[in-house]
Amino acid sequence: MKKAKIVVLGAGYGGLMTVTRLQKLVGVNEAEIVLVNKNDYHYETTWLHEASAGTLHHDRVRYDVSSVIDRNKVEFIQATVEDINTAEKKVILSTGEVDYDYLVFALGGESETFGIKGLNEYAFTITSVNNARQIREHIEYQFATYQTEEHKKDERLTIIVGGAGFTGIEFLGELANRIPELCHEYDVDFQKVRVVCVEAAPMVLPGFDEELVKYAVAKLEKKGIEFKIGTAIKEATPEGIIVAKGENEPEEIKAGTVVWAAGVRGSHIIEKADIENMRARVKVQPDLRAPGHDNIFVIGDSSLIINEEINRPYPPTAQIAMQQGEAVARNIKALLHGNEELETFTPDIKGTVCSLGEDDAIGVVYGKKLMGTKASFMKKVIDNRSLYMVGGAGLVFKKGKFKFF
Ligand code: FAD
Ligand code: NAD
Repeated sequence: MKKAKIVVLGAGYGGLMTVTRLQKLVGVNEAEIVLVNKNDYHYETTWLHEASAGTLHHDRVRYDVSSVIDRNKVEFIQATVEDINTAEKKVILSTGEVDYDYLVFALGGESETFGIKGLNEYAFTITSVNNARQIREHIEYQFATYQTEEHKKDERLTIIVGGAGFTGIEFLGELANRIPELCHEYDVDFQKVRVVCVEAAPMVLPGFDEELVKYAVAKLEKKGIEFKIGTAIKEATPEGIIVAKGENEPEEIKAGTVVWAAGVRGSHIIEKADIENMRARVKVQPDLRAPGHDNIFVIGDSSLIINEEINRPYPPTAQIAMQQGEAVARNIKALLHGNEELETFTPDIKGTVCSLGEDDAIGVVYGKKLMGTKASFMKKVIDNRSLYMVGGAGLVFKKGKFKFF
């Protein structure tokens, strides 16, 4: 009998958890396992704000896919996924095609610009190692160029961060630590540098614990970060951004760097494929399969699951993507064994910790509020745990974070 073929798309949190669990659960005689990813490396998306600010080298953020997969059991294809032909059960790749019996879609999310003019052209996003490297280099270029100009343009030294969600705040935390280093390195007066965070909602980290948010804002403001709250970015231009607060007249803020960290949507590949979706996210069934597609599982940032307690979608996180990867591996094993009773996925949310730079953080873990060094320690434990879950102690020793205070 022909062996079943399982194809996993994406070597991010969800995809790698699926594959590393499948290679343990499924025998070589039971199924072929294929993993497809754009790069030959995995990157810790949750550390990209550090690489973007330049506080952590981008090589610390990534590791080879081959170092965590069993090449005797898993075929790795380095290629870009271009489309999925669900009728013919084929994935179209930049290098050819691959057919499947079971497909796990784990290509992550993409930046959501809500159609705001100029963002695609003039703003950076913290979405990959390549983008992170570009942001770091761009900021350094602005500092270096400033010193070469006879008529100095101070706006070169203004950095706009769009959105004060967790990504925006974590990036600001790193920038707050990096700017004094850059000023020293490029002989720039610290007073000339502006870092402005523009947030449309009436508060920073909307919906998060107010006491912790107050702590975060105070700490960041003390390091020179400016907040424009209740203010929406309306447009990005070659010179900076246009913002508006309520009914007020729009205002221009000139800036040399604009980083858009104000939203995530699913992968555009979902929209191209014939799979029902809402802004590229698939409202999956309780067993994580796409509606109408009994052989396609969708996990991570391209999946949408509802928190029944508040009747709203769970925010897309690595925490959930990893748990979904484990559940999908078990469900595929069940299907291979002819068991149609699949596991229902319910996220087990242990908490949320938001870093404010290397040495500070805020968070709620198992219902307990944390701030300062305790929270920062916890954040590093979480970062190391995600390495451990995929690659064991060896990967933690190679890539882990051990400078706790
Ligand atoms: P990803 O981990 O993003 O992986 C997707 C993979 O697919 C990547 O390897 C990508 O290269 C590959 N890929 C994409 N498109 C293609 C294609 N067309 N062809 C081939 N390969 C492709 N969540 C938390 O729980 N805790 C945190 O502390 C946290 N911090 C964050 C900090 C930042 C700065 C950001 C941006 C996000 C953070 N998140 C955090 C959210 C978290 O990173 C995402 O929810 C998580 O990465 C989603 O996992 P995923 O497996 O769906 O996708
Ligand atoms: P988000 O959607 O959580 O936050 C985006 C922010 O941008 C919101 O506060 C929103 O009000 C604001 N915004 C939207 N449009 C705007 C506009 N036009 N002008 C100004 N502000 C605007 O996005 P995110 O912060 O990138 O987070 C994405 C996901 O990743 C979330 O699920 C988050 O929980 C997760 N994440 C978690 C962590 C962590 O746990 N430490 C860190 C980063 C991201």
